[in-house]
Amino acid sequence: MGIGIDLGGTAIKGGIVDYQGTIQKERMVKTQSQLGYAQVLNDLVVLIKELHQLTPEETGVGIGIPGILSADGATVVSCPNLNWKNRPLKQDLESCLSLEVLLVNDATAACIAEAAFGSTRDKKNSVILTLGTGVGGGVIINEHVIFGAHGVASEVGHMIMEENFYDCNCGKNGCLETFASATALIRYCQKQLDEGTESVLRTIKNFDARDIFEFAKAGDVLALAAVNRLTRYLGWAIANISDLIDPEVFTIGGGLSGAGEFLLEKIIAETRSRLTYPQYAMPEIVLATFGNEAGMIGAANLSRFI
Ligand SMILES: [Zn+2]
Repeated sequence: MGIGIDLGGTAIKGGIVDYQGTIQKERMVKTQSQLGYAQVLNDLVVLIKELHQLTPEETGVGIGIPGILSADGATVVSCPNLNWKNRPLKQDLESCLSLEVLLVNDATAACIAEAAFGSTRDKKNSVILTLGTGVGGGVIINEHVIFGAHGVASEVGHMIMEENFYDCNCGKNGCLETFASATALIRYCQKQLDEGTESVLRTIKNFDARDIFEFAKAGDVLALAAVNRLTRYLGWAIANISDLIDPEVFTIGGGLSGAGEFLLEKIIAETRSRLTYPQYAMPEIVLATFGNEAGMIGAANLSRFI
């Protein structure tokens, strides 16, 4: 049993996760980040205390955070969604709770959820790419999460692929995230429409990534080109990571993974064509088992993978 918290920009979700990876009890409150750090801290303490009272045994607490943590996992170095910088969250929570609290990046939490109970279960080496508004990443090698010397390992979304027509939120140009996220798909299609390319997308006001996948499947030339561009860069990135650390399996998670086999088959083909040793080192590439609950399940199981 463990308590897993998913601290997001709009909601704080907490759950008691059992040994099979099932969420037995769940609680949620709004994230009131506009009221400052002290308010969010207080809301976390109340939520965790409530869950702890419902837990029949002693348990630790893990929290998934959409930001960068210090190498020792104690401080939230940067979390733009909550407007936090250098917040000693672990110490602040432990002094209020008398429980051990572990912090983890949210994409790494998703990687742990898959490794503990999902698509990469029983595999020692796995990588997750979460494709949503941005691109997140998590890496497990020999059943241990990789944090790196400064706590910022596995930022696969910010690997430089090549120059792109717009800058990444991180300030750089050419990040994978600007080629392989929902934002990237929409911006690429909008640019092509602005330049006069014909597409059914022109008839849809405020189209989203789901629309682009729908029209790509139906054969719209622009939508299909946009999806092929996205999967080409993902294939390159997966081949590069594979050449570097040679994991058994990559998991594709996040909102875009809802495109299913259509997306997966393209990524697999692109990866195979770019891998140095495709004959005997082609990794499995699979869809994530968990969706919105991945953060809670992974955070609750962090202690097994550090
Ligand atoms: Zn970037």
